[in-house]
Amino acid sequence: MNHSQAKYLEAMDIDVFKLREAWNTSNMDTDVPLKNDETEDRTVDRPNLEHTNWEELEQKIKACTLCPLHKSRINTVMGVGNRQADLLIIGEAPGANEDKQGEPFVGRAGKLLDAMLQAIGLSRDKIYIANILKCRPPNNRDPLPSEVACCTPYLKQQIDWLKPKLIVAVGRIAAHFLLETDKSLGSLRGYEHEYNGIPLIITYHPAYLLRSPLQKAKSYEDLVRIRAKLNK
Ligand code: URA
Repeated sequence: MNHSQAKYLEAMDIDVFKLREAWNTSNMDTDVPLKNDETEDRTVDRPNLEHTNWEELEQKIKACTLCPLHKSRINTVMGVGNRQADLLIIGEAPGANEDKQGEPFVGRAGKLLDAMLQAIGLSRDKIYIANILKCRPPNNRDPLPSEVACCTPYLKQQIDWLKPKLIVAVGRIAAHFLLETDKSLGSLRGYEHEYNGIPLIITYHPAYLLRSPLQKAKSYEDLVRIRAKLNK
């Protein structure tokens, strides 16, 4: 085990003995889809992104009022990183810290994500990170279908320009959107999927790993798969 891997395990509070124990005994998947408590039936507006470039896209996102989340946001969170990156990580939506700073994954989950990346020799300047939603849902509730529908044209445009070699969806919300499914995350991870011809790997959201430490061993297995795919 190299230094980065050891640091990752340390950041995740697990040692080698615990890792084996989790491998052998844990097949629980508690990350099952939750239902939104609001059911919706409304038509949604979508942004017009014709003839847009990165700078204009950023301005359009900052000025977006297509869904009600603009009323409660401090900042929009477009995404950050290297626009030539091989790897695109897609999370769910900004939380309180991300809303304050205008950057994805800057809170506790973000620190764990950094440790996970470091374990496979990656850092933020080598990858691109974005979310399904650009604005924070109140109290970090699940994104509503109408919010996902209005907001994801921005993400789709980013994917189209980035043309990553690999997309990694962290958590159920990103996985469900990209795969147009509502299967449990546990049943989606462990396989290579595709999004518009781009290889797609599904793994646990770091916030979920903070709550469910036993799943960190499986997340490490996903990281190894991600590294191998990028090495190809
Ligand atoms: N969780 C996410 O899915 N994205 C963020 O940017 C922060 C937390």
